[in-house]
Amino acid sequence: MNIYGQTLTQLENYFTTLGENPAKGKLLFRSLYQEKITDFAQISSFKATLRCQLAKDFSLTLPKLVTQLTDHNACKFLFALEDSNLIEAVLMQQKFGFSLCLSTQVGCNMACAFCQSGRFKKVRNLSAAEMTAQLLAVEQLTQNKIVNVVLMGIGEPFDNYEQVMAFIHIISQAQGLSIGLRHITVSTCGIVPAIIQYGHEPIHGQLAISLHSANDQLRSQLMPANRRYPLSELMLAVDDYLAHTRKKVMLEYILLKDLNDSSACAEELARLIGNRRRCQVNLIRYNETQNSGFYASDWDRCLNFYQILKQHHLTVTIRREFGATLNAACGQLRADYETI
Ligand code: SF4
Repeated sequence: MNIYGQTLTQLENYFTTLGENPAKGKLLFRSLYQEKITDFAQISSFKATLRCQLAKDFSLTLPKLVTQLTDHNACKFLFALEDSNLIEAVLMQQKFGFSLCLSTQVGCNMACAFCQSGRFKKVRNLSAAEMTAQLLAVEQLTQNKIVNVVLMGIGEPFDNYEQVMAFIHIISQAQGLSIGLRHITVSTCGIVPAIIQYGHEPIHGQLAISLHSANDQLRSQLMPANRRYPLSELMLAVDDYLAHTRKKVMLEYILLKDLNDSSACAEELARLIGNRRRCQVNLIRYNETQNSGFYASDWDRCLNFYQILKQHHLTVTIRREFGATLNAACGQLRADYETI
């Protein structure tokens, strides 16, 4: 079993079952995530028999790097998992430090029309260990400390709810990587029951929802998940989340040329958000992929959209473009390696 999927509580229980002091769980967490050991033999504070037992019960497996592309502000990694499935992660240099966009599944069943990952059906969920190991592998390869994590790579995180929550527990643990919950974002295409469940968790990160249209007809074309969870139900889930947390909800909106970037679309979005002041809109210029049939909005259309939302006193940002020159949009690098 890969040790990187164990929460602190699980490790404490493990030591208890061995007849050891459960506090050793915290020591092990420090060794794994602060000292970054690569072999249990390096834990000098544990006696030799205990180190051997750990090596018998657990592995320290990281994914293997297949290829890596770098430009001035982003670095994209294609990793092979133990069963040879391929996943992607993107490291981005932000003003506040390094941010990592991780995959949560091999492939994705959500079939969003503009997304390369949606071309590959879900093969399987990633385990919490495989998510944590992606982060550790990137830190090891780049020697950079990751301070922010977004679950926005390949996969729908809420289609892999339990492993995603275990991953959040592991990376936010103070004795380990200690990534603050404010710096962990789960991005969903709008799985309503999971949004509600997430808002009721004792610990959870931030929430981002890929919206991309405030019109059910267009959104269902772009995102088939909308047929199951239409906007009226989605916004009720947002309200429930806002009522149970003190957090904001980030609404992601990819601007697609001549499709969802008109003044009327902006007005429709403003109406949908209404007076939900803790909803923020993040506008994203589409990262054009080969043969997708979608194009990035012109800058004047993006700015017009932005201005209209501002006139409605909404909090709006336009996301910096990361890795536009290196196929950084979700699933593009994997798509270059695999054919369907
Ligand atoms: S955008 Fe996200 S949810 Fe939609 S198909 Fe791509 S990976 Fe899946």
